[in-house]
Formats: sequence, structure tokens, C-alpha cells
Amino acid sequence: MAPRSRRRKHKKPPPAIPMIEIPPTEVSPVSPVLSKPGPSIDALGFISLDNNVPGLSQLILQKLNMKNYEEYKLVINGGTPVSSFGFQCQQEMFQKMEDTFRFCAYCKVLPHGLSNCKVLRHCKRCRNVYYCDTECQRSDWPAHRKVCRELRLVAVDRVMEWLLVTGDFVLPSGPWPWLPEDIKNWDTWFSMRGLQLESTLNALLGSHSMTMLWASLGRPRPDPDVLHGSLKRLMTDVLSRPLTLGLGLRTLAIDVGKAGGSTLHVVGASHVETFLIRSGDYDELGYMFPEHLGFRVIMVGVDVATDLLQSSSSLSLEPGTIQLSGHRALYHDFWEEQIETGILAHPDLVAAFHPGFHASPGLMEAWLPTLLLLRDYEIPTLITVYSQQELEASLQILVNLDTHIIACGANPFASLKPEQVYSNPNKQPVYSSAYYIMFLGSSPCQLDMKQLEEKNKHDFSVIEPSLY
Ligand SMILES: [Zn+2]
Ligand SMILES: [Zn+2]
Repeated sequence: MAPRSRRRKHKKPPPAIPMIEIPPTEVSPVSPVLSKPGPSIDALGFISLDNNVPGLSQLILQKLNMKNYEEYKLVINGGTPVSSFGFQCQQEMFQKMEDTFRFCAYCKVLPHGLSNCKVLRHCKRCRNVYYCDTECQRSDWPAHRKVCRELRLVAVDRVMEWLLVTGDFVLPSGPWPWLPEDIKNWDTWFSMRGLQLESTLNALLGSHSMTMLWASLGRPRPDPDVLHGSLKRLMTDVLSRPLTLGLGLRTLAIDVGKAGGSTLHVVGASHVETFLIRSGDYDELGYMFPEHLGFRVIMVGVDVATDLLQSSSSLSLEPGTIQLSGHRALYHDFWEEQIETGILAHPDLVAAFHPGFHASPGLMEAWLPTLLLLRDYEIPTLITVYSQQELEASLQILVNLDTHIIACGANPFASLKPEQVYSNPNKQPVYSSAYYIMFLGSSPCQLDMKQLEEKNKHDFSVIEPSLY
């Protein structure tokens, strides 16, 4: 069907990554601590982390001045890095990483701002926040106690994630032994992968790389069950994206039996989605649809990692294959250059992980042409957000844009790895892709939020049984 209106003429948003220089996405009660005078943490470059809640990858790139995976491997393997590289060996790297967290969680003082003889000491329970003295720690406890347990997991995951970076942690793979329709969430996925998974994890726990990892960190290695839990959380973090795409295909009843392959676009993709991507990362999506005739996953964003940049082709795929590629562009420009000209096929599904357009007028301006384009061309679209609050704010925007919301709710394939908001460690950790929204075209009638809530209750009861 022809789009209802042609692409809107718009001012091109600035080419900068839109995550920078916007206010925090969540409006949490402002603690009196934040208004205390002291150095501005945001001025030190934490603000982008705060807004994007990026996990380790962004941290690696920004704080360790690491732009390239090959360069990282070179250093870890004892090679000589180029002069601008952020660290010389793994020990130094962990040290630098830890420095990122070294400021008093209560009064925000930085190490160089401490008076004589004082050093910042970490909370013994979580090892994830620092204090200048017991007084600050005691004053902070009412706020910190709510998140201390979760931050303890964050501190372990942050270290263990390096095993994914180095390639020592290889996710279990292979066709699903169970019927895909029985895999409804992580519980069923873990049960299905059961034995294979256990042996992979046990082998890794007993490996030399695991020993070296904790040795270079210079801190005691946690118990095996703690490490085991961490590896499982990391696995959900990697697989959340392909399985969430699969959830979108299922829920929106998209035909994956298209001759030549189906096309999925990941819009607004950044380093987070693309930096450490490996060719097998989307295999689980294939196993979810064993009859598929090929998936072409194209990441589009101004910050797509160079490793992924290669020309996407619209040549037919072999049944069962998955092709990953990237385009460094704003989506509406990509659409104009690649889709409207017929170079690449229309997408069967478009996904945006944490677009964050609810967070600020600037981000909304950047996303508006894309959202309108997806609506007017009636492209099945899936977006994910970090929290219930973001879900509500994003839904409100999409309703105002007159999109037809098909489904929304808690994502059964959300990442289970907690993400710390670095500049404000006592903020409740969040989980990637915790909630999803799917829309298709324009709403046949104007719904308000209350009607939408009712509609979704209804949709779920209809969708769930027929979903799988
Ligand atoms: Zn302090
Ligand atoms: Zn703590």
C-alpha cells in the first residue's frame, strides 16, 4: 500500500549520537545528596553512560579509549598497542575500569579531592560503590541498602563479561531440541539447553582463562555458584536481542518462509548492539524458526561499529542462513538511499532497542522522521525500553503519533543482567529490553491511554494462546 504521506521534510538532526547531553531518562525522586555542592560527575563524561545505561561495552570504548576489538586482542595477547591506546595490559585495564567507579557515592568527592590520608573505600557487600569515610557510608545506607544486593551482581558481571570479549565464553549453540513453540521465556530456554549448558559453564569455570581473569583483578574469586549465575545472566544479555526479534516475528505473525530470506532492521544501532557482535550471535533466532528461508539482519545507526560495516546485499539467501551487516546512517537517510531506490528490500520487521525518544525533545526530534516513516509505510515495528515508566512514556508518544499499537508488556526475553547507572549508583539497576511495544501502521481510531491499557489486557489474552 502506498504510504499515507511521503517522507516528511525535516531538519537533519545533528550527526552526534543522540544519547549525549540529555537529561536522565528516568525521573526518580531526587535525593538531597544530588544537590550537595561538589564536582559535577556529569562534567566528567558520565552523562552519556547515565542516559544510555550501556553495560560494559560503552565503558570499554569510552573510558579505556578502545575503539577496535582487534587492538584490544593485541594488547591482551601481549602485543604493542598504538600510542593512543588506553592501557598496556589486562591488569591496568581492570584498574582503569575500577577508577571509573571511584568517587564517593554520598558526597561525590573524587580521589584527588580527598583531604590528607583519606582514601576511598568500597562497600564491602557489593564492592561497587565507594565512600570517603564511615560517616558518608552511614548517611548513604538508607538509599544504598535498596540496591546493594543487585550491585553486587553488577560487580561480578562486569568482570565476567571479559570472557565474552576475549572469546573464552562461547555460548551454547545448535538446533533447539524442543519445539520452538514451547520456548516461551528464559525458564523454558534454560531447561531446553540444560545439560549442554551446564557442561559449557562448568568447563569455563575450571578453565585457565577464568583463573587468569581473577588473578589479574587481584581480588578473591567468588564461589562457583556466584560465577555460574553471572555467566547465565551474561548469556541472557547477548541472546536477549535475537530472541526479542523472534518474539516480534511471532507476535506480529510475520511470515519467515519468504523465498530469498526475510529482512530485519535494527534501527538506531550503536556500539552496544554491534561492537562485539559475532557471526553466531543471531543463530538462536534461526533455531526459533527452524523452517526459515534466511534472515538478513541489518543494523542501521550513526554509531555502528566498523567491524560490521559491509555492504548488505539483496541477493537471495540460502534457507537457514543468517546474514549480519551494518550501515552507518540515520535510518530515514538509509531508507531514502537504500530502500526507496530499490537497492535493498523493504524490511519484514524493524526493531529499535532502547530508542529513548521519550527522554528528551532532542531525541524525539531525531526519531520522529523514522517513527513516521515506519508508521506510514506500515512496517511491523518493535521497540524495547528499560522500565515500566519508560514503557508508559513511550506508549503515550506513539499513541499521540497515531500509531496502531499491536502489543506491549514485559519481555519474556529481557536481559537478566542488571545495569548500574554509573553516575548515580543508588539508582535502581535496570535491565535491557525489559519491556516491549509493537506497532503496525496507523491506529484505525484514536485511543487514549486508558483504552490502550484495556486493549492490551485483551490483546494478551488473545495473543498468548495462539502465539506459539
Ligand atoms: Zn563522601
Ligand atoms: Zn554495597
